[in-house]
Amino acid sequence: MKKLLVLPGDGIGPEIVAEALKVLDKVKDTFNLAVSVDEALLGGAAIDATGNPLPAETLDKAMSADALLMGAVGGPKWDHLETSKRPEKGLLGLRSSLNLFANLRPAILYPQLASASTLKPEVVSDLDILIVRELTGGIYFGEPRGIRTLDNGERQGYNTYVYSESEIRRIGRVAFEAARKRGGRVCSVDKSNVLEVTVLWREIMEEIGKEYPKIELEHMYVDNAAMQLVRAPRQFDVMVTGNMFGDILSDCAAMLTGSIGMLPSASLDAHNKGLYEPVHGSAPDIAGQGVANPLATILSLAMLLRYSFAEAEVADVIEQAVSKVLDEGLRTADIWSEGLQKVSTQAMGDAVAAAI
Ligand code: NAD
Repeated sequence: MKKLLVLPGDGIGPEIVAEALKVLDKVKDTFNLAVSVDEALLGGAAIDATGNPLPAETLDKAMSADALLMGAVGGPKWDHLETSKRPEKGLLGLRSSLNLFANLRPAILYPQLASASTLKPEVVSDLDILIVRELTGGIYFGEPRGIRTLDNGERQGYNTYVYSESEIRRIGRVAFEAARKRGGRVCSVDKSNVLEVTVLWREIMEEIGKEYPKIELEHMYVDNAAMQLVRAPRQFDVMVTGNMFGDILSDCAAMLTGSIGMLPSASLDAHNKGLYEPVHGSAPDIAGQGVANPLATILSLAMLLRYSFAEAEVADVIEQAVSKVLDEGLRTADIWSEGLQKVSTQAMGDAVAAAI
């Protein structure tokens, strides 16, 4: 029996997770999957109930689960709290406690949604990129960090950008392994013309590249990578980069596809245990209205089945069901256009479950 922990979180989180669970129930019945489901508090919901964005009970359950499915955390209600007590801290704590160092973000443009992109269809059609972002190191976690007062009385903010060889090596391997199962190309993104930490990054990527002679390795400065992503995104297969560059580039890649409501993500440890979540946030502006797009969460469930539960065929079936409902013309408001059928969050979940 595989153990799944569900973390609905805040804003639209509970609404979209409920639809993914509908789909899970359907595939459990259809394919006789042995999966137990438990639920825990994270983020703002956990702050309201316990004062802590990552309560000990949630962390205990997360430690013993085989995979985690999350909605999203955060919202204006908790924005006034100091950084260490905010909902996002719960998510960052979970990622580092579980050692989820590899963030996989596919950016796929569904042909049915080609017109949703702000880029010309000929630039983005058939887009299929996988961004592999290092998630537990780099400048987001480097010490020392803080805001200090200098001798002259002026305040100064500072952070530390560090990567050890082993950290670079393990994320590099994830990228090369992924490329092996996809288009056979890795683009490593750095800023080695300015930052020593990424000089080391480039050196280690070259080393790993020698272990994978069939994979084509290219290096690109992050500023050029940002430009190429909007100029000619189809040149990329797998992109691998550090935490901060990956944060920015993956959002840019997300927008190439036209809807943030369609994009799943996985954060994996070294043993394929993972936290799966949509790329988008808690969308407080539309929470509680039944209009949020649940497809990113449903596709996150598909990734979970593929990577953590080794159920690639079931994952394929879910992805095909999503494609089928798009073919049928069903759209939530964020991806709707004239002539198509606008449906609610719940109706979209029902339709995907029915298409399994
Ligand atoms: P957001 O992704 O929540 O929303 C951006 C825009 O996209 C909004 O207009 C929203 O309505 C829309 N949107 C997002 N998801 C959608 C969906 N499934 N269907 C339809 N429309 C959707 O980003 P934001 O507004 O910058 O952040 C809101 C809150 O979410 C903040 O508190 C932020 O910290 C948090 N956040 C959490 C995560 C996470 O949990 N991993 C990620 C990003 C932001």
